[in-house]
Amino acid sequence: MTTMKFSHRVIFVGASLFISVTLYLFLNVQTLQDNRHVPRRKLMETHLWPLRDSNSPVIQPVSDCAFGTSYHVSANITTQSIFNSINFRTSYDGSYPLPTVETRPPLTRKDKIAAPLRVVVVPHSHNDPGWIKTLDEYYIDQTQHILNNMVERLTKYPNMTFVWSETVFLSIWWNSLEDHVRLQVRRLVRKGQLEIVLGGWVVPDEASTHYFSLIEQIIEGHQWILENLNVKPVNSWSIDSFGYSSTVSYLWKQTGLQNMVIQRVHGSVKGYLAAKKSLEFRWRQFWDQSGTTDIMCHVMPYALYTIKYTCGPDRFMCLMFDFRHIPGEVNEAKGKTIDDTNIESQATYLYEQYRKKSSLYKYGTVLVPLGDDFRFNKPQEWQQQHDNYMKLFEYMNSRKDWNIDVGFGTLTDYFDALRVAEGRASKTKSGGFPVLSGDFFPYSDRDNTYWSGYYSSRPFGKRLSREVENNLRSAEILTTFANIYSKQLGYRFDNHHVYLASLQQARRSLALFQHHDAITGTSKEYVAGDYMRKLAVAYNHTHEAIAGAMQMLLTKGTVSVSENKLLPAETKTMFLRFPQRKHIHVSEEGTDVVFFNPVGQTRKEIVHLQVDSDTVEVRDENDMPVPCQLNPIWVATIRISEVNFEIVFPVELAPLGLVVYKLTRLSEEPAKLYPAGILMYNTLDFVLPSTSRLIEYRPDIGSEIVLQNEHLKATFSQKTGYLQSVVNKTSGLRTETKLEFLQYKSRGSGAYIFYPEGKARTFEELPFIIRVIKGPIMSSVEVAHQQYLRHLVKLYSGFTVQSMGLHIENEIFLFKMADVEVIMRVKTDLGKRSNFFTDQNGYQFIARKTHAKLPIQGNYYPMTSACFLEDPSRRVTLHSGQALGVASLKNGEMEAMIDRMLIYDDDRGLGEGLQDNKPTRLYFVLQVEYSESERTPSLLKYYSYPSLISSTMNDLLQNPVQAFYATPNMQFGIRKLELLKEPFPCDITLVNLRNLMTSLMTENGTAVILHRRGFDCSFPASGLTCALSHGELALNSILSEIHLKQVRKMSLSYMYELKKIRTGRLQLSPMEIASFHVQW
Ligand SMILES: [Zn+2]
Repeated sequence: MTTMKFSHRVIFVGASLFISVTLYLFLNVQTLQDNRHVPRRKLMETHLWPLRDSNSPVIQPVSDCAFGTSYHVSANITTQSIFNSINFRTSYDGSYPLPTVETRPPLTRKDKIAAPLRVVVVPHSHNDPGWIKTLDEYYIDQTQHILNNMVERLTKYPNMTFVWSETVFLSIWWNSLEDHVRLQVRRLVRKGQLEIVLGGWVVPDEASTHYFSLIEQIIEGHQWILENLNVKPVNSWSIDSFGYSSTVSYLWKQTGLQNMVIQRVHGSVKGYLAAKKSLEFRWRQFWDQSGTTDIMCHVMPYALYTIKYTCGPDRFMCLMFDFRHIPGEVNEAKGKTIDDTNIESQATYLYEQYRKKSSLYKYGTVLVPLGDDFRFNKPQEWQQQHDNYMKLFEYMNSRKDWNIDVGFGTLTDYFDALRVAEGRASKTKSGGFPVLSGDFFPYSDRDNTYWSGYYSSRPFGKRLSREVENNLRSAEILTTFANIYSKQLGYRFDNHHVYLASLQQARRSLALFQHHDAITGTSKEYVAGDYMRKLAVAYNHTHEAIAGAMQMLLTKGTVSVSENKLLPAETKTMFLRFPQRKHIHVSEEGTDVVFFNPVGQTRKEIVHLQVDSDTVEVRDENDMPVPCQLNPIWVATIRISEVNFEIVFPVELAPLGLVVYKLTRLSEEPAKLYPAGILMYNTLDFVLPSTSRLIEYRPDIGSEIVLQNEHLKATFSQKTGYLQSVVNKTSGLRTETKLEFLQYKSRGSGAYIFYPEGKARTFEELPFIIRVIKGPIMSSVEVAHQQYLRHLVKLYSGFTVQSMGLHIENEIFLFKMADVEVIMRVKTDLGKRSNFFTDQNGYQFIARKTHAKLPIQGNYYPMTSACFLEDPSRRVTLHSGQALGVASLKNGEMEAMIDRMLIYDDDRGLGEGLQDNKPTRLYFVLQVEYSESERTPSLLKYYSYPSLISSTMNDLLQNPVQAFYATPNMQFGIRKLELLKEPFPCDITLVNLRNLMTSLMTENGTAVILHRRGFDCSFPASGLTCALSHGELALNSILSEIHLKQVRKMSLSYMYELKKIRTGRLQLSPMEIASFHVQW
């Protein structure tokens, strides 16, 4: 148990006085406003928080702020400028045209003396780990045969090559292999015949994935490959993800990958790049002025990655070079066996296609993927493609007048050839690649058809992914510390290996779900169910590990964790339900509740628990009573539970801190329990049970509903219950934030495509029943729609980051509707000078211009964790607890699509609509900020940074406090435990801290992954107590509890050691995400 430091005590006393006065006034005003017949209401005469922090981070304007104030872009192409300049014209058939090429490329004298045209044909097979079938079904029906045939055929055909990208399939297959086959696979890899490309656990979606999971899945894949195949991938291969994020290009660069191949880029953007011979570029991060983040990227030029679209511009011609012929199988392939009679004509056709394709690129190199989904599953196909292509290659290479060098190869072969060719050109000063910054969203493959629907498809899964992320991260951190304490201090940690194994399983299930048909919501309904089942298991396994590690740490291993005595306050009982809050039984002897703060900074927060008593006393770790508000639990629209209640109270948590509070059932109402007041609008039928301690007030009809705390005052419409405005109480400045729910009617929408019939229209008819809760610790406005939606806005008291935003929960259930897409829109008064930014993968913010030349669906962008509107002095941020599609269709407005119910298929191969809607609970925080200093006009920016408060608020939303309660016979001796001796600086996010392990579960040190944020200094940072890093971090003092032997900086996925850090002091550049290996 720890005692309070002297300095804290001093501030404690001063602050208590201040806050008690504030709350007293606040309540009095409220009470008078709210009703005419004032019942006796208990006033809170105590402090909410031990202290008010005024010690904001010490910001050094020059060193800390310079980075976040320069919005210079060093690239010569930005994707936003491409969108600004192109007209999005399509051909007569709806396709996007590429620059025309000569119908028959005559070789000029120059061509003939130039280096030969280098054509690398890359056989591949695209294996989705779940889409039309589940992962296991694909493996059994197709993938195992593809891989088995691969080993046999590549051995037989030494000139043939193959590339493979999905490690999840390799790992399943590997377990079935005999040793000699494994040796053979390793030999093929060593020889360069088989290349592992990307090597992630899956090929992830890039719109909805948070960078935490992107990093987890690439580590999982790369470590597996390194261990089992002893190879480090250098090229990435992502031919089917529906748009590409610049965050992913950054992460891949950080892992050591050198080149990327991408395919699903907007057709008009491809046309633009092709016209400038810029389909190959160095992809650079916006903020990078020196090129350290550059990674080579090749964009495939045509519509798809299948053989039909890869040999050259003529689809029908390309089909003549697909030689797959399986008796009884119907397919598009038109290849006829090559023999002496047709070799000349066929080789000429193919040669022409290659030449035409090469005209889109700069250096006389052509990459020709040869494959399709689940191809090369039959031995015949291997033989057919090999034999016919080898004849064609031989013939073409023998035609000296064609000046061509063609053969099978891998991506390494292609990029080596490209670099040689570019190097040759550099000698004549025509070398060099363009530099591009930006991303490739939204993706469109046909006229007006935008793949922007999937950003919001199946939000239930998108939210669950975030919940598993949070649980997994907490579980990794806690089990790692429990493991270290057990080894270094001798505490018993019985189930350690069970937890390590179940966490590996959870990590792999989460990694699997990042696949581009999983988190995207674009698989068959039953496949989506399979993913949900796997995630639900992961969710529960991570809870078990958290509980076990908490118990071990708080008992120093004296109570065996084989009998789990801690249970989560929120559980997932059924895999298709969102987590439910448990009604915790509070006993007279007292029930211990353990809270864990998974972020690396100190945290003060108001938490919610559901209990079975309305006479609960809450005591903190020092046995001091804590003020606690009693709220109702609604069992029907206008009926509250008489046996279960919500309690709300403040907790203070150290960075990665554990704290134990005690709940006790008293025989009478505890002194510090404050029953909330209830106000019902648009109904006269509500009856407060006679036994209830809660208080009912009659609403004041005719005025706005007002919620307020120390920071802000929010007004809501009495008619709709929706937010209208937010007033900053310090400055008195008001920002309009009119919230509404609307729906789009579908014209051609499906799982992938958003294609609405005109503008959004009203969602539901008025009036709605509005439930308002008011109390000293939190207040809320809740709109209970009849069937489809429950909308709740909470405002917390106190001087904390939590209390600076409005916390929104939407429960949506569209099951009974048909062909609708529902949005939540916020209309502000930011007006014409405002601009819109969306985050990418929770890592960075990109400016998004809304183009009148594009339809609504073409102006939708993915949001992973936040988006904001800003004008020269204000910023309105919508933080999001799940990935969704967002847009700003008018100046000052932003909207998020929160669910979609679609009857029809959208013709992208899925063959069904989206009709399996689940009741889904979505989380947001709305924040209004006012700048303190001059700012770059947002209209000039391509990218942006959050303020420190904003990034902290987002971290808190993504990583909620973990709450576990103890079973009746369990009480904890240790009431407070700080796993870190110092907090991480404000601008450094602890991305993860976890055990590194081999597949055979041998431990291999600890991974610490850190992200140094870029931030905008022009917004106030008061309320934060942490310091800034100024680019340096003393890991040894933060982790001083652990006896550290060695710290090494590694590449992101732990494939390469970058440097040994002898002092324990780490350096991080702004925006850098870096991995460290800690040996202890
Ligand atoms: Zn795919």
